[in-house]
Amino acid sequence: MKEQEIRQKESEINWNRKINSPLLKERFPQVESICISLTREYSGAYAYSDIQEFTFTKSDKSYFKIDCLNPECIYSDLDFEEEIINAVNQRTQKTEGRKICHGWQDFERLNQYKCQSRVDFELVIHFVKS
Ligand SMILES: [Zn+2]
Repeated sequence: MKEQEIRQKESEINWNRKINSPLLKERFPQVESICISLTREYSGAYAYSDIQEFTFTKSDKSYFKIDCLNPECIYSDLDFEEEIINAVNQRTQKTEGRKICHGWQDFERLNQYKCQSRVDFELVIHFVKS
C-alpha cells in the first residue's frame, strides 16, 4: 500500500471508532467529567515537546485516542481507554503515568523502527456526587 492509502485508511478507522463510541454519560453514568493533561515528547531529527489538556464531559464521545506528537508516525496507539476504564471501575480520581507510542517512526521505516514518542499523563476523573 502507498503511504497516502495507509494514512487515509488509518484515519477512517479512527473516525469510525469515534463516531460509533457511546457518549460518556451512556458509557460511564457515574462520571461527571474526565480531564487528561499531557506532556508529549518526541526525539527524531529534532526534539519536540508540548503540553496539552483535554476535558471530556457527559455529552462527549467516549473516545480517548490522542494524536502522536511525531507527525510522521504510522499506526500510533496512544489511547487512554484502558486507563479510564480501570480508573472508573476502581473509582480512582487521579492516575499518573507514561505511555510510549508503539507506532512506526515514519513511512520509510515501516516495520523497522518504532516511533517511541513519550507521553506523561495525569488523568483526573470527577465522579457524580451520590
Ligand atoms: Zn507515534
